[in-house]
Amino acid sequence: MNLLELDDFHWLMDILQTIDVGLVVIDRHYQVQLWNGFMENHSGHLASHIRGHSLLEQFPDLPEGWLRRKVEEVFALRSPVFSSWEQRPRLFDFVSTRPFTGHSLLMYQNITLMPLLSRTGNCDHICIIIYDVTDAAIGKLGLQQANQQLKALSITDRLTTLYNRGHWEECLRLEYQRFQRTNSPVTLMMFDIDFFKKINDTYGHPAGDAVLRCVATTLKQELRGTDIAGRYGGEEFGVLLLDTDGATAYAVAERLRQVISNLVIEYEEQRISLTISLGLANLNRQTTSAADWLIAADNALYHSKHNGRNQVTVARPPAQILEMNASHH
Ligand code: GH3
Ligand code: MG
Ligand code: MG
Repeated sequence: MNLLELDDFHWLMDILQTIDVGLVVIDRHYQVQLWNGFMENHSGHLASHIRGHSLLEQFPDLPEGWLRRKVEEVFALRSPVFSSWEQRPRLFDFVSTRPFTGHSLLMYQNITLMPLLSRTGNCDHICIIIYDVTDAAIGKLGLQQANQQLKALSITDRLTTLYNRGHWEECLRLEYQRFQRTNSPVTLMMFDIDFFKKINDTYGHPAGDAVLRCVATTLKQELRGTDIAGRYGGEEFGVLLLDTDGATAYAVAERLRQVISNLVIEYEEQRISLTISLGLANLNRQTTSAADWLIAADNALYHSKHNGRNQVTVARPPAQILEMNASHH
């Protein structure tokens, strides 16, 4: 080695030592040959203590099975292997201190395993390169979280936290389509608060809001987790009762009617009672569209209103009407 090459070598060693990337060289027995400054700083182990020892013994928490598979792959194929933080958050459980918040959290790492060939072309060593990608990972995870929150907000009714009309109608269409494939029973329940305008007029608009929230809470308590409830209009609600035939849906609707009629909502020293009118429409083969289905339930609700309110009406399936007509002839 001439003088210049020696200089080169020292420069290279300085660079390896200070670069903000983890570098570990191991042989076929996982014995550490190189352990740079990044690894010293984050592991707390000096190169002089680690060199010549087995990486797996020094770091028993390493995912040994995963690492062995990757190392075998690199030795066998003699080509690099990558693993991103999205596949596996990290190889080494290093802590990363956030520059602004001072928070500490586990480092997210991208990993490269690279074969090192000797001058004779043998591959007896592998270099493990560890990139600290915590900033990028946190950014992306934060963005995903923000997007999820935005999505939730865009489908939720603020006052009641039920689904808003747009999203609920989307659910209605999906359930209609699903029925075309599965034929499993599903019933649509629409209901509307009786004389709600009078509640507002008597107790004030904020009291009316409290009533709406209380109705939504009661509804959630009465339904099953799979039922899909939305605020359809001001004081009108829609519920998709999944896997529910007409008879069961009627029992659900009747129970809801009773529970709501027994509520006494207290709002600023006032005690408010209310009733609801309901309409049910069981989805069947004669229903030609999601809109049709909604109209059937709405007509049943309209019937409840005009028949004295505080009651449940079941939409008559068209088939039954046809049969009845036929029997008259
Ligand atoms: P009916 O028994 O026929 O349904 O009578 P109603 O008074 O309930 O029906 P109507 O449609 O005449 O009145 C509904 C009222 O609901 C009118 C509207 O001001 C009120 N409303 C709509 N949205 C809200 C809301 O978010 N908060 C409050 N407090 N009131 C609302
Ligand atoms: Mg009303
Ligand atoms: Mg109404």
